[in-house]
Amino acid sequence: MNDDPIVIIGGGFGGVYTAQELLKRGYSVLLISETNYFTFTPLLHEVATGSLLAHDIIFEYESFFQSNHLRYIRGRASRIDRARKTVWVNGEEFGYSYLVVATGSTTNFFNVQGVEHAYALKDVEDAILLKKAIITHAQGINHHVAVTVVGGGPTGVELIFDVARMLEELKGKDSSVDYTLQIIQASDVFCRIESDGVQAYIRKAMDHMQITPVCGAYAEVIHPDRIETTVGDYRSDVTVMASGVRPNTDVFAEDLSLDERGHVPVNAGLQTIEDEHLFALGDIIAVDGKPIPKLAQTATRQALVVAENIHRHQTGEKLEAYNLEVLGTMFSLGYGDGVGIIYGYTIKGVLAWYLWRTVYLFKTPGAANKLRVAFSWTMDLFQGRNLTEL
Ligand SMILES: Cc1cc2nc3c(=O)[nH]c(=O)nc-3n(C[C@H](O)[C@H](O)[C@H](O)COP(=O)(O)OP(=O)(O)OC[C@H]3O[C@@H](n4cnc5c(N)ncnc54)[C@H](O)[C@@H]3O)c2cc1C
Repeated sequence: MNDDPIVIIGGGFGGVYTAQELLKRGYSVLLISETNYFTFTPLLHEVATGSLLAHDIIFEYESFFQSNHLRYIRGRASRIDRARKTVWVNGEEFGYSYLVVATGSTTNFFNVQGVEHAYALKDVEDAILLKKAIITHAQGINHHVAVTVVGGGPTGVELIFDVARMLEELKGKDSSVDYTLQIIQASDVFCRIESDGVQAYIRKAMDHMQITPVCGAYAEVIHPDRIETTVGDYRSDVTVMASGVRPNTDVFAEDLSLDERGHVPVNAGLQTIEDEHLFALGDIIAVDGKPIPKLAQTATRQALVVAENIHRHQTGEKLEAYNLEVLGTMFSLGYGDGVGIIYGYTIKGVLAWYLWRTVYLFKTPGAANKLRVAFSWTMDLFQGRNLTEL
């Protein structure tokens, strides 16, 4: 191994957890990230709906790396030169011994027109803009807001339920507030890869929360006050695109051999097919030709494998294979309700919601950060959620 550090591009779930594991093994790491903070994405919808504030779910890297072996550079990696084993950031070249690419994904707008009128939910800035839009419409001149979420996967489902709870609470304080909510979904079911029991529970909960499901429909054109779909037009003051994501790899299209959907092809050891010193993980990879579920839980488990395999590669040992199995899924359906499967058992209602919160509290990185989230949730119990527009 040369004297250059192991360079990690991307400071999200895959990048940060890989860095932690490598530091534990005594390696020097250079982390390149576009922001100076880590975002705990599973709780983003709670920022968009006032259960948490932005600073509750973003954490400075220093809060969980206490190591002199970590160097951090704020910037966007723009080129990988594999022949010279260097990465370009902000016009400067950095050498690496091994390179780990973990640049995550970006919203897939699927060629829908008028997306400039739509909101997304990929980072805290999106969450803040979204909350402001919903509240200012609800408390605006018409006292009415129509919210449409495009995409009935986990992100869209969790978001629409929490928006419903937020607007219910707002209406409780000001009875002149009124709202309509709809969720556009291409297939007939929500959270397509989940069991029938989970899907049926979500559908029933939608009826209860007066969320209109629009199934078998595709968004076509988004306007500031309505949305055109393949099954008709709907009034929509706030339209959120939660229709899916695609790998955030465009910038490396000339440096890496990507598959036709932009994934980085890796073997079971998460090592790229074309370069034994280059590993990749998280939302950007296709393992043995197949994309895998784009989840924080998969990225963090892959981080252990990448760190171990860099060590094994360096010492000439056989690489460990990543186990593709998803351990279980949990969904929050707004305050006090949830559904999920753990070890094959379906859990519903308040117990599922409570477990969901407990799991994500424990997954929040760093003890101080856990305390901050727990404190905010406890305050909500007494004060209700934060309904300011920021
Ligand atoms: C709203 C929302 C809710 C979610 N809820 C859940 C959930 O409940 N459970 C779950 O398991 N998963 C959930 N996910 C999915 C989960 O967030 C992702 O699967 C996970 O973050 C993937 O990790 P990653 O490291 O691949 O990418 P990310 O965590 O997205 O990190 C990628 C990082 O790379 C940076 N980056 C990108 N390009 C460059 C570059 N050129 N140079 C430098 N840095 C770069 C980005 O800024 C980002 O910080 C959710 C995602 C969203 C958006």
